[in-house]
Amino acid sequence: MTVGELTRHAAPGLETAELLPWQTAQWSILATRLREDRLAHALLLTGPDGIGKRHLAELLAQALVCGARQPVGLPCGVCRTCLLYAAGTHPDVLRIAPEDDSRDIRVHQIRALSESVAKTAQLGGYKAVLVVPAERMTLAAANALLKTLEEPAPRSVLLLVSARPSALPATIRSRCQRLGFRPPSREDALAWIAGRLPEGIDAQLCLGLARGAPLEALWLAQSGALQQREEALRRLLGVFRAQVDPLEAARAWSTQAPVDVLAAIRGWLADIARLKAAARPPALDHPAAQSELQLIAKRLNWAALFGFTRRVDEAYSALRGSANPNVLLLLEALMLLWARLGETARATSGPSATNAARD
Ligand SMILES: [Zn+2]
Repeated sequence: MTVGELTRHAAPGLETAELLPWQTAQWSILATRLREDRLAHALLLTGPDGIGKRHLAELLAQALVCGARQPVGLPCGVCRTCLLYAAGTHPDVLRIAPEDDSRDIRVHQIRALSESVAKTAQLGGYKAVLVVPAERMTLAAANALLKTLEEPAPRSVLLLVSARPSALPATIRSRCQRLGFRPPSREDALAWIAGRLPEGIDAQLCLGLARGAPLEALWLAQSGALQQREEALRRLLGVFRAQVDPLEAARAWSTQAPVDVLAAIRGWLADIARLKAAARPPALDHPAAQSELQLIAKRLNWAALFGFTRRVDEAYSALRGSANPNVLLLLEALMLLWARLGETARATSGPSATNAARD
């Protein structure tokens, strides 16, 4: 079974058997059911990306196979099965995720899951299966899973994790017990990530970029994605000011992570709209870039801002979809338009931009 995408939010600095402070309520429900041996055979864990749903599913999987659970239901971390789990070699814990370059969880993976679940656990305890992200199952895969959900094997627990549960067939959703998760408060999230970030990284900036999702914030800080975004913002501003060649910016982004870059650009455009609309300084997703974004907010009129935002949204959808567009062409068209908007803004507001259009 592939671990695949499971790695993105398994952020360093997060202990395997650590219960995240904002998940104690959900954990206590699960621990009680586990203790009383009435845990549902299929759970659907839902909520935004980057807040630890998958982490909790892993914690529950480990607790299910642990031979010496703690009183609060958490795995002990030191028994033989916990050590096998930590090494990633526990035979009764399966993980299903998109394989290799595929975006989808395919039917052969679910068939292998069903066969495995039908057999007795090798170490005599529970079997735990994680399906992450569950909404990536193809229709055929979901239909195959339905059979396993309708005839559950004894002492097996299926853990489906999804940030977009509405993309799952209703027949799957209705056969799972649902457990919803929310992001922690900003204060709690900041307190939690503060001690885990590399030195010199601004916790507030990370959390803002991650839209309040603490694990996403850690990932941004530790993966180099934060530096990549700063670079992307410099290029975007440079193109607007005619200091960077729009085609050069497009070429650079096409070889990096174009979807992430477009997601970041959407965030900056949202901040520009906030700055244009607000009489007083608004709360921004990217407060560190406020002065640069303010400059664009002053120079760009609403029609141009909306028009460009729509084009970025379309490009973003095209890149995330299955149509396989020409990434470079898409980014070149966007950046040429952005450069033209910069040129028009300079022509209408003059070099000082002090009499910025208040339209
Ligand atoms: Zn244990």
